[in-house]
Amino acid sequence: MSISLEQVSKHYDGGPAVSDVSVDIAEGELFVLLGPSGSGKSTLLRAIAGLTPIDHGRVVLHGRDVTHVNAREREVGFVFQNYALFRHMTVADNVEFALRARRVPAAVRRRRRRELLELVSLSGYDDRLPSELSGGQQQRVAVARALAHEPRVLLLDEPFGALDSKIRAELRRGIRELQRKLGITMILVTHDQDEAFTMADRIGIMDRGRLQEVGEPRELYAEPRTRFVATFLGAANLLLGRQEGGRVKVGRSVFELACRPYAHRFGAEVTAVVRPEDLAVAPRGELDAHPIGDGTVTEIEFAGAAERVRISVEAGEALASAVSPAAARFELEALRSAEAARCGALVVGQNIAFGAERVHALPSPISSVRLLASSAADAEKLASAAIVRDLAERMHIAPVRHAERGPDDDQALMGLPVVDLETSKPSLSAAAGLLARGAYQVLAARADALPIARMLIYVQPSRAARDGALSAAATLLRHLAVDATLLVPADDRLRLGSSYRALLDLRSSALRLHGVDLRTETFKGSVGKELERRLESSEEPALVLLGLTSIDAGAALVEEIDALVAARPPAAVLLVCGRAEAAPAFERAESAAAFERAEAAGFRSAGGRTAASRA
Ligand code: ADP
Ligand code: MG
Repeated sequence: MSISLEQVSKHYDGGPAVSDVSVDIAEGELFVLLGPSGSGKSTLLRAIAGLTPIDHGRVVLHGRDVTHVNAREREVGFVFQNYALFRHMTVADNVEFALRARRVPAAVRRRRRRELLELVSLSGYDDRLPSELSGGQQQRVAVARALAHEPRVLLLDEPFGALDSKIRAELRRGIRELQRKLGITMILVTHDQDEAFTMADRIGIMDRGRLQEVGEPRELYAEPRTRFVATFLGAANLLLGRQEGGRVKVGRSVFELACRPYAHRFGAEVTAVVRPEDLAVAPRGELDAHPIGDGTVTEIEFAGAAERVRISVEAGEALASAVSPAAARFELEALRSAEAARCGALVVGQNIAFGAERVHALPSPISSVRLLASSAADAEKLASAAIVRDLAERMHIAPVRHAERGPDDDQALMGLPVVDLETSKPSLSAAAGLLARGAYQVLAARADALPIARMLIYVQPSRAARDGALSAAATLLRHLAVDATLLVPADDRLRLGSSYRALLDLRSSALRLHGVDLRTETFKGSVGKELERRLESSEEPALVLLGLTSIDAGAALVEEIDALVAARPPAAVLLVCGRAEAAPAFERAESAAAFERAEAAGFRSAGGRTAASRA
């Protein structure tokens, strides 16, 4: 492989700019880094080029570790965000610049320059100054200049930013052709989704310094893993559904899933994604899709080849918005072709039925946030906790207050139930009680704590515990800009085999099955002591995440942490309880194979025992 990044991290004074980015980019691949402004794209690109030193991790180019190799020796070409040609130099001098610096003889320089200018369709422009060129032409010179020393890797940072849309489209095609012709490995940074879709072999989506998801454009669009990616790559309707095996019930229909959500258990709540073009609307009785519910047309918008229809929907049995689960009414958006609009004209105010041919379910266990408190005032206090506010804002979830209906309500156990973290012992009894009643995970949070800055994760040695904890950790990490450390006991040979291998297995399953890289560290002694040491060693507010094999198997651990919390309360504790019946996450062929390998290497004995004892 051509470019390999391993846990690349870079902090500035303001906080993490790039956090634990790991990805392999193949030789000859055009990889697009897409993300909003400030998400760390330029920092990552500069780290690959060697222009910004990194704090942690490795950069490997063509199998060679170049982490400590200076920029010039990395054989990387770079085109900056604001195509900075040397203004006082001609096109010829600009293109030959790198060759001169490398003391390449004049005749060779000249030949190379001619080839390059021909390649970017600028033959004959040699003697012009940058000011005598259009923006698109300047940009092409910048590309030629970056290619002059025949780099094996070309990095382009928003190269089309300042250009108008017609020139952009031309340049996109031109660069794509050039990249194919030269077979060069290329990373292109952009914040433009269309640009990413039209150019990329694969897209890596960045947000808050993390590489959120990587995949082929179609795959990412059709089967995103996170709310962020689902909504960043185009419009998406988000609904709450109930999982039924490999299927999901949304409103009146049960849908087959192309890829499974993270299967906690039958009946669990999941976030269903329906793209507007997949949402069918029609007068009642005329719907030609699996029906979901009824609604009223609130807006019809002409959009040339298509028509956008907004509908207002009443929440009901198995039908709620995943953005505001408690809302009695919510809006959905449908997009249909002009032809469909002609054949079945709708009017504002009309009652309609809506449905879909297919839905996608996010593989995240955090589908909703539910605040459980004994009074409305206490629920408000929980809602003001920094971690609740951050999650709600970044996941676009309005937390549901369960104060009045009380925690006996089954709904309250769905998604992510949140309770107050008592700072006197037993601090976790409410949380543990909810697990015992069937909640899959419970967050105990201190309302007065500052936003969390780090996450300490400990997972009991079983597949069930690992699956649950890692999928919750993956969702949290993608939405909160924090450092995470996975703590693995070093002396637990009996259960884990070689602790080093267990550590690698955990990390690789986190990466492959859940798409996030976790920093792993071993420790000796008890978990409680280790957590205590880490909580004491830094003032940074921490979230402690515990993955339990089962309620029984986790009881002693919870008790140990209880004592710790009373003495030195972290900002929050997340308990995730494994289920023996949990299926492998996200059953794509590649993931399943990785899972089998990890399974064979590590947790087999412990996982097997768990399954047997529950059977
Ligand atoms: P993007 O290219 O995606 O817009 P950047 O990589 O430029 O994002 O920035 C990521 C984060 O790092 C931002 O919060 C930015 O303010 C910060 N940052 C970038 N460069 C520096 C720097 N030289 N010094 C301090 N902070 C920086
Ligand atoms: Mg940038």
